[in-house]
Amino acid sequence: MRQSHLFTKTRKEAPTDEVAKNAQLLIRGGFIHKEMAGVYSYLPLGLRTLNKIETIIREEMDAIGGQEIKMATLHPSEKWKQTGGWDNVDVLFKLKSRTEKEYALGQSEEEIVTPIAQEYATSYKDLPVSVYQIGQKYRDELRAKSGIMRGREFGMKDMYSFHESQEDFDRFFSITKEAYLRIFRRAGLDAKVTEASGGSFSEKLSYEFMVITDAGEDDIVYCPSCIHCANTEVAKAEAGGECPKCKKGTLAKARAAEVGNVFDLGVKYPKAFSFTYKDKDGKEQTPIVGCYGIGTTRLMGTIVEVFADEKGIVWPESVAPFNIHLILISSVEGTAKAAADALYEKFRMAGVEVLYDERDLRAGEKFADADLIGIPLRVIVSEKTLKEGKLEVKNRKTGEVQMLTETELLKTVSATLSV
Ligand code: ATP
Ligand code: MG
Repeated sequence: MRQSHLFTKTRKEAPTDEVAKNAQLLIRGGFIHKEMAGVYSYLPLGLRTLNKIETIIREEMDAIGGQEIKMATLHPSEKWKQTGGWDNVDVLFKLKSRTEKEYALGQSEEEIVTPIAQEYATSYKDLPVSVYQIGQKYRDELRAKSGIMRGREFGMKDMYSFHESQEDFDRFFSITKEAYLRIFRRAGLDAKVTEASGGSFSEKLSYEFMVITDAGEDDIVYCPSCIHCANTEVAKAEAGGECPKCKKGTLAKARAAEVGNVFDLGVKYPKAFSFTYKDKDGKEQTPIVGCYGIGTTRLMGTIVEVFADEKGIVWPESVAPFNIHLILISSVEGTAKAAADALYEKFRMAGVEVLYDERDLRAGEKFADADLIGIPLRVIVSEKTLKEGKLEVKNRKTGEVQMLTETELLKTVSATLSV
């Protein structure tokens, strides 16, 4: 895409009421637009990144047998009343129509997915089954000061699975846990899994996926030597103590963001809707349900928080809005312009996503914009580099600069993209 055609421009300042680093940088870079506290619109650059995050999630959910659906987000109040959520879920947005009918905005979708599954999973032969969606959620959050990491409208992937037995549920639960770890790794993040809460015996199994960042709202203790990690809200473990798992490491404390969450919901929702299926002997049984969430927009905000430097955003390759930021430095129409135009076409033909800054601006302004936007590789074409028969290639993350021929550059790029 030619940058002169891009719908957005960068801006020097974020709105004064925006305190979160992720939103400040994303707004300044033109990725998102703030509508009010906790509500943001996604613009071309932001949507490209969000789509890439969603694609990674979609691939991993499909790989474990999840089937994608899209459920309604405007919900009839009756279903929420049936499960008790209408009175007990404090973040539920409730609406009244002009005919005094009541509705809820989806903050999670157990109330919708359970009756749908009830219609199709009537026999043990229909189980196990898992469905997921990626879309908007609405929550009346009291605090919305974390930018896109805590929205009142936000993106979530939510999956729901239905099983005949606890054993089958446990099997799928651990498959999903592994898929989640792959998703976060592919998005460039090191996520830690909290140990099961399991305080009281009626409490069901759940795992939280935590990424260490000061921008998070959770406190964890974790072992630097092994995989042990616990949320301090539920665990008694204290920093400084010996790791209860490996008995070697010393527990450390950190602030973290919960990017995902998986739950054993047991039979609560099927019971509320009298959902049973026929087992092998023709007897009515209640299925066991699991739910699995990932905050897609919180994940995007977390990536910004974890990798940004003083100059701006630093995207991991896998979720960057473009692979290459091609920058033309030339005051007049000349050989550099022709060479950059030709390179832009070559990249496009090779399927490389390029943002081509051919704007009539000073080099300093272009570089500052490129640093803020955070595309992994910056390629500079100028009369000076052309004289040497080379292109200047800068790595946004490391700052490393290489002088490469066009052939060398194309090779480097295709190697990065095939990883
Ligand atoms: P939190 O404790 O942070 O409020 P939660 O336990 O309420 O999260 P879930 O209901 O399990 O979260 O939702 C699944 C995922 O959706 C969370 O792990 C998180 O990544 C994301 N999420 C939850 N609430 C928000 C929000 N208000 N804005 C953005 N993402 C959110
Ligand atoms: Mg919450």
